[in-house]
Amino acid sequence: MPRCYLALGGNQGEVAATFDRCLRRLANIREVCISRVSRFIETAPVGERGAVDPQRFLNAVAELDTTLPADELLTLCQRVEDECGRVRTVHWGPRTLDLDLILYGQEVIDSPRLKVPHPACWYRRFVLDPLVEIAPDIVHPIKQLSVSALRDRLLVRPLHVSIAGDMSPSQRESLIVAARTEFPDVVLTAWEQRSSWPVATPEPALILWFEGQRDSSATSTISDLPLATRLDATEPAEAPGVFLRHVLQAALNR
Ligand code: ATP
Ligand code: CA
Ligand code: CA
Repeated sequence: MPRCYLALGGNQGEVAATFDRCLRRLANIREVCISRVSRFIETAPVGERGAVDPQRFLNAVAELDTTLPADELLTLCQRVEDECGRVRTVHWGPRTLDLDLILYGQEVIDSPRLKVPHPACWYRRFVLDPLVEIAPDIVHPIKQLSVSALRDRLLVRPLHVSIAGDMSPSQRESLIVAARTEFPDVVLTAWEQRSSWPVATPEPALILWFEGQRDSSATSTISDLPLATRLDATEPAEAPGVFLRHVLQAALNR
């Protein structure tokens, strides 16, 4: 029976009560056996912040064993989200309950409907903090690091983050300059191959790979970047600057 981890999130209504209801509902399913639940942790919301102070998020992680195939577990999660009053409006907007399948045993799944491990779980403090509380030694099947090691490297200040990809140097520079002002506790650099670095330079905790206007001199691909720290930023629907901001907010937990 694969051991799975579900991330719970919400910022609308009585979130703690919603989490309790969701966990009771899951515990009543014959094919699901919940073994551990983290504390409910308050975190800053990721996404756009209006003038009014946004309601903070509550996050938690549950560990469970299940005989359900991964896609059926996702369907179950979506049904529970609906039952708990979730209305799908704005992406990352207010919601009563968000259930993400973080890990399904050591399986790697990449279908249009389901990606496991959840693509953002390894750099989001609001997932890693509760996950480390209940399962610090569990290994991320792609990054090949324990979740506590993944979290530890996000605690370093300043946080070193690099930008890679085939965008033009000026595009990359404007991305870096814009983010520097907003995130003074992050050192943002253009990615350079390790061989050309001074020995004392710390390795970045995250390297974001963007695909921009093709730079004819670009010879590398994302697979040339270190597996443990690379983050493919080509798929997201957001503009590069917006995606970068969301990643940094989640990595810094602010
Ligand atoms: P994020 O995934 O960045 O946390 P979100 O949780 O707000 O964003 P949703 O609107 O809840 O995103 O879900 C969008 C879609 O993501 C779902 O319809 C689902 O098919 C898909 N999805 C892919 N992988 C997963 C996963 N591991 N867990 C949950 N949903 C997933
Ligand atoms: Ca989510
Ligand atoms: Ca979700």
